[in-house]
Amino acid sequence: VETISAGTAGALQGEVTAILGRLGVPAAELSGGTLPVRSPITGEEIARLREATPEGAAHLVAEAHTAFLAWRKVPAPRRGELIRLLGEELRAAKTDLGRLVTIEAGKIGSEGLGEVQEMIDICDFAVGLSRQLYGLTIATERPGHRMAETWHPLGVVGVVTAFNFPVAVWSWNAALAFVCGDAVVWKPSEKTPLTALAVAALFERAAARFGDVPKGLHAVLIGGRGVGEALVDHPLVPLVSATGSTAMGRAVGPRLAGRFARAILELGGNNAAIVSPSADIDITVRAVAFAAMGTAGQRCTSLRRLIVHDDIYDTLVPRLKAAYRSVSVGDPREAATLVGPLIDEAAYLAHERALDAARAEGGEVTGGERIAVGDGLASFYVRPALVEMPAQTGPVVEETFSPILYVLRYSDFEDAIALNNGVPQGLSSSLFSLNLREAERFLSAEGSDCGIANVNIGPSGAEIGGAFGGEKETGGGREAGSDAWKAYMRRATNTVNYGTSLPLAQGVTFDI
Ligand code: NAD
Repeated sequence: VETISAGTAGALQGEVTAILGRLGVPAAELSGGTLPVRSPITGEEIARLREATPEGAAHLVAEAHTAFLAWRKVPAPRRGELIRLLGEELRAAKTDLGRLVTIEAGKIGSEGLGEVQEMIDICDFAVGLSRQLYGLTIATERPGHRMAETWHPLGVVGVVTAFNFPVAVWSWNAALAFVCGDAVVWKPSEKTPLTALAVAALFERAAARFGDVPKGLHAVLIGGRGVGEALVDHPLVPLVSATGSTAMGRAVGPRLAGRFARAILELGGNNAAIVSPSADIDITVRAVAFAAMGTAGQRCTSLRRLIVHDDIYDTLVPRLKAAYRSVSVGDPREAATLVGPLIDEAAYLAHERALDAARAEGGEVTGGERIAVGDGLASFYVRPALVEMPAQTGPVVEETFSPILYVLRYSDFEDAIALNNGVPQGLSSSLFSLNLREAERFLSAEGSDCGIANVNIGPSGAEIGGAFGGEKETGGGREAGSDAWKAYMRRATNTVNYGTSLPLAQGVTFDI
């Protein structure tokens, strides 16, 4: 077991209280409750929050619904002004909020800040969108008629988020939902509730500057699965956007279907990259290193499977192994650190189990061992693992939320595509190749079956301009850019007869 010095561990609680105070969350809210909040950096408790009850959740949903009834009447470009102000608040708070993400989720500094930048980006996008919620005019077969579609606000949007993007995922949903005329009730991960309190306070600042935001338009439910279920089951919530594990989606999806509510499910990924003989090796090594080791492998889009052509295997894999041996693992507050902690002990145990299972399937493991940082007792750091596998079996077809990269060989490009697609999940995928035929084939209907397919960049680190989400067990939802906004509105088809007769469609006659 390697040991690394502990930085400034011990002072976390004071720093968190000070940051939250600056962002508008009073210290009194941070203690006296039943939900312990720990920083994965040291494992120490940094707050103890009061939890919502299912009854309290129902009350907040009802209040949000009343707020929605008023908010839907505010013109969309004016609603955009609220999000413009939110973007300003986020810009002003970027350093503090980014640091809080680092402390609560364990992300390195640039990734904590990057997550806040992503929030700012989606706010800008949503402000523009607030003047572009376009419907269509559609050709009608009936003379003297006009047919069109109109997009209307939907209602209260329930947002359930995971620990690994504790604030950005909220913003993908909320920035769009608010300009679309909806209210938002947010159930953040019980592992990262402090960043949610901070974001809620920033939203209230923007709302106060805006002036007449109806009370309860945004609410946060602190708590675990029970309070999430209360949100999912509430009849006044027509849409739930839920981000997390496939197990969570399996529980949430049928409950929503049972009451005919809409679901945006953003679930687990098991993302692959194919490396062809023509690949630019320098770009490939850098892209693979970031995608597989970055965020300690705790992104839904993290690279988990590398499918390498035989002709390039002995060039690429030794370079990757060297990067795995030398990458700096440690306290994410240290500027030199590239790989921070796993979120908790359960994540570490899953990491160990997956490596044991891989060895049992014939895998050869480089790295993967636990690293003690500080006193090393209550925090869980691991050296990223590169595992050469004889076949795509056992843990390779599952998502383990830690930095494990399984490496497989291929000789025929069609087999590589089959391996890429040969898992239950369908979030993100990449091809490294300078061969145009391969690239177009990979992006074609017969290529990658994922919601995201990239060429010569890794599978992680999406921009907000594209629609984000994946197929199969990833859940099928789309968030953020492109026309993802349509999920947050309801579509009405309108037919107007401005003529002097009543022709029926399809030539039907009904003369009375
Ligand atoms: P998780 O499934 O444990 O929890 C996610 C959220 O769901 C939490 O807020 C949790 O309280 C809530 N929840 C759990 N069961 C629920 C239920 N029955 N009803 C209502 N709410 C419930 O996930 P996690 O460990 O926080 O995050 C890691 C997982 O999230 C990984 O699988 C990762 O791939 C996935 N993820 C997916 C995306 C994506 O966009 N596809 C993005 C980020 C994370």
